[in-house]
Amino acid sequence: MTDQLVAERNWAGNYSYQAPQLAHPASVEELQGLVAGGQKVRALGTRHSFNSIADTAGTLVVLDQLDPGISVDAANMTVTVSGGTRYGTLAAELQRQGFALHNLASLPHISVAGAVSTATHGSGDANGNLASAVAGLELVTADGGILSVRRGDEDFDGMVVGLGALGIVTKLTLDIQPTFDVAQSVFENLNWDLVLENFDQITSSAYSVSLFTDWSGDTVGQAWLKRRGGDADPETSDFFGGTPATEARHPLPGVSGSNCTQQLGMAGPWSDRLAHFRMEFTPSQGDELQSEYLIPREHAVDALRTMRRLSDVVTPCCWLAKSARWPPTSSG
Ligand SMILES: Cc1cc2nc3c(=O)[nH]c(=O)nc-3n(C[C@H](O)[C@H](O)[C@H](O)COP(=O)(O)OP(=O)(O)OC[C@H]3O[C@@H](n4cnc5c(N)ncnc54)[C@H](O)[C@@H]3O)c2cc1C
Repeated sequence: MTDQLVAERNWAGNYSYQAPQLAHPASVEELQGLVAGGQKVRALGTRHSFNSIADTAGTLVVLDQLDPGISVDAANMTVTVSGGTRYGTLAAELQRQGFALHNLASLPHISVAGAVSTATHGSGDANGNLASAVAGLELVTADGGILSVRRGDEDFDGMVVGLGALGIVTKLTLDIQPTFDVAQSVFENLNWDLVLENFDQITSSAYSVSLFTDWSGDTVGQAWLKRRGGDADPETSDFFGGTPATEARHPLPGVSGSNCTQQLGMAGPWSDRLAHFRMEFTPSQGDELQSEYLIPREHAVDALRTMRRLSDVVTPCCWLAKSARWPPTSSG
């Protein structure tokens, strides 16, 4: 099915797609016909990118009408899935069958193909990004043909993180592992000086570690630790100056923690805890722009110090600041 005039926006609402047409093919064959017959065709995932990367002057193609086709190969420990499937759907089915992915992004709402294409990552010192699990993929190329590639093939890594430029990814095969439990704990108000002095120790203190800050003040607002079943217990009353949260937290002060995955150190399936946000709710705040910078690890502490020095500029732009603590109480 093809709609005229897209005139629709991305998740954040900051970008309106310029493409004049939007198509939802119901089969791979229909998709092949569309691609072969179109001048410019590009895949649109679940629209969570904050910029124009998914746009085109021709037809946008969404794979949400294709069957997720989730198929586990237990002998090779892989799962094959349709590109338009959301991570949350895949994770629930894998968990049902006793399997797991090694990592998830902060939100499970994004499509597998869209997330992998942009090198979306989760957290954890030893965990590769989501694309690192891709063992193979199938894409419809410009002539409408199907190209299958596997890990080890020439230029494979570039095809996996292809930014949507090489074709429409219809199927991905991902590495899986036996299911595992995760226990998630949130610590509040860590001492900034201790965080900077012990940065590597902090980020390696659990399977996945995330820090949330608005860059102001002497403390880091929250540390989220996701401990894998069997890992040492970090439950402590003092985590680098921070104390354990006594109820479920959202990364933004004042927003209900009910949007977020299970915390308070209660162990349970990876599929319900590796992401920060729950599939049934709007992830994060819903009205925001996010950006990120990748830097070599050895420069992390210097970069954090620099960001703190820029707090006057950066803090007023943060939701944490808008929602709770900014501006600081005026003295007159
Ligand atoms: C609230 C929120 C939280 C986020 N958290 C994280 C996070 O924790 N970590 C992180 O790294 N990023 C995060 N992001 C960014 C997000 O993961 C990326 O923008 C990701 O690309 C979104 O996937 P999508 O399915 O929405 O793709 P879209 O934004 O729709 O498209 C992204 C790109 O993928 C291409 N594409 C989509 N589908 C296909 C396909 N079938 N075949 C070929 N190309 C395709 C598009 O052409 C485009 O180039 C977050 C975004 C939001 C809004």
